[in-house]
Amino acid sequence: MANFSIDIQNLVKYHGGTLAVDNLSLTVRRGEFFSILGPSGSGKTSFLRLLGGFEEPDGGEILIEGRSMRGVPPHLRPVNLVFQSYALFPHLTVHDNIAFGLEMRGLSKGDIHASVQAVLAMVRLNGKSARLPSQLSGGEQQRVALARALVNQPAVLLLDEPLGALDQQLRQDMQVELKTIQEQVGLTFLCVTHHQEEALTMSDRLAVMHQGRLLQIGSPQEIYEDPATPFVAQFVGTSNQMTASLESVDGSYGVALGDLPRSPRLRVTSPEGVRAGRRVILILRPERVHISREHSEKGFDNSLPAHVQKAIYTGSEMHYLVQLSDRLSWKARVANSSSDEKHLQVGEAVFLSWNADEAKVLLA
Ligand code: ADP
Ligand code: MG
Repeated sequence: MANFSIDIQNLVKYHGGTLAVDNLSLTVRRGEFFSILGPSGSGKTSFLRLLGGFEEPDGGEILIEGRSMRGVPPHLRPVNLVFQSYALFPHLTVHDNIAFGLEMRGLSKGDIHASVQAVLAMVRLNGKSARLPSQLSGGEQQRVALARALVNQPAVLLLDEPLGALDQQLRQDMQVELKTIQEQVGLTFLCVTHHQEEALTMSDRLAVMHQGRLLQIGSPQEIYEDPATPFVAQFVGTSNQMTASLESVDGSYGVALGDLPRSPRLRVTSPEGVRAGRRVILILRPERVHISREHSEKGFDNSLPAHVQKAIYTGSEMHYLVQLSDRLSWKARVANSSSDEKHLQVGEAVFLSWNADEAKVLLA
């Protein structure tokens, strides 16, 4: 048996003059929940369609369960695609929607019924098999679409923006639900989405895609804590960024002059093998920025004067937009840990402080 459920090497796909999938290589382990996270137009759907066999690649190789998919038509591939729109038959009941594919394959009535009951239990829709899609909530329709794919017992389930049609609250519930179902059935799930919270919440590992390329592959924590590029830092979660010039390097730390009016000296970690003189980008998450009225807070490597531009009360947190210069504002988040907290006001003079280890430094 192959080690990987999916093994892709140097995959290339053009749509006319557009390079939709650009030399993409990726391995997905058996039983893994893997997501491809990228903005609209980054090539996610094109990639899934290649896996499903709906389009042929212009280059590269796709192995699924160790078998080359070259020339294999969609219905003979060990995969099933769940569409964003669900594509349920509106005039068929839940049971018949799920049974449809099995009937096409000529299974006996008894076998079909048993299979449908089994997947209905998996997605927790047991009591609803006689309903029409229009009599179901959005989340339930989503689960019917999932059941319809699972009933074919594919080795790999491909999901294209599976929660895209759901509202925010339902979406969060279904993120947990989908991951639970995946763990129970033990299949490989390959999910593409533009929704970063979704990808972080559900995935064992994920890849960030941009302009047809995979920029970084890793666990949710690796991607969030240690973004490989400024784009990844910007797209996954929220990040503050500042360009700077590395003035001196001493071991794994350095001093950089920030691109602010008075070029403040900032203590930074120094990327390995990087010499003084290089341009760098500092990346700092809003929850790692310490915001205070007093300057000389002890124990911080860096502290910059700023003004509160916006103060937004979100219930669990205060979100501040803080102006460092005419051209640069950063975000800071502070947990509302007590009910009588004195929030900062718009216009107040404050200091933003952080330690060198809390900021990521990339070459500009
Ligand atoms: P995503 O799913 O990430 O939004 P797509 O795979 O749909 O991205 O599209 C990737 C790129 O390929 C986009 O620039 C899109 O306009 C282009 N594209 C996708 N499908 C076609 C097509 N059938 N013909 C021409 N261009 C296409
Ligand atoms: Mg798409």
